Amino acid sequence: MQSTRRLLKSLFFSVLLIPCIVTAETTVTFKAEDGTIPSDFLADIKQVSNEITLFFNWLAPINGDLKIVWANKIDGPLFDPGINTIQMPYEFATELYTLFSEDNYEKTGRSVDQATLDALQFILFHEYGHAYLNHNQIVVLGKEEDAVDNLATLLLLYFNDNGEDIVFSAADWFAISDEKTEAFEDGHFWDEHSLDAQRYYNIQCLVFGFNPEKYKNEYTDEQIEQGHDEYCESEHQRQLFKWLDVIAKHSHDITSEELLERIQQGQPLPAENK
Ligand SMILES: [Zn+2]
Repeated sequence: MQSTRRLLKSLFFSVLLIPCIVTAETTVTFKAEDGTIPSDFLADIKQVSNEITLFFNWLAPINGDLKIVWANKIDGPLFDPGINTIQMPYEFATELYTLFSEDNYEKTGRSVDQATLDALQFILFHEYGHAYLNHNQIVVLGKEEDAVDNLATLLLLYFNDNGEDIVFSAADWFAISDEKTEAFEDGHFWDEHSLDAQRYYNIQCLVFGFNPEKYKNEYTDEQIEQGHDEYCESEHQRQLFKWLDVIAKHSHDITSEELLERIQQGQPLPAENK
């Protein structure tokens, strides 16, 4: 598994150069922003969104026209299956920025700007996961919200040199949100999402399972007694290969082994054409 990780890392930008034939694709649109986001930060948001869209069309294309739309005063972030659109409100970026800023997030060594972009990347992957499952009519037995959190975490980890940093910022978004929750009400438990604290620990678990040797000292004695270290490693592998199976079958009509081999050798991926 170590070799798989080494081979997969660093591919994020190189894949952008690989030609890919798709019959339909995901596109991203930026409606006019009302001036509340500084222009240089807005440029960063656009760049990240454009790169991620190219990545989706390469690794996990869907044979349909999916739109990602950034705009003011829209609901979201969410995937709306009725209009096949991922809605990303600019206000959400501002909310994230404020959350990290009020938490003095720079103290972690990661700037507020960067942490905000990290969390936005996570949510774009998460919403794409919903769109992907819907398009391919894949039924998740369990919480779909957890499933697409897992997908977002894995893709960020394996296709970025600094994937762990990005994922930890996203996890911290949930940890900070949890800290702001003064009391749990019925609505928290009815919510289709797991609780923020659970989402935080779930992401942490997948990262620890990504590099068990590096993170073995992060577990408490109690967690090790309960076997959490072994669980996180096996859960990471299970989630990784299940998602690879899904993407290989639905996007490329090949096996997960063939998909891995093509990625590792830098070969073009066969586009879905059903
Ligand atoms: Zn969701």
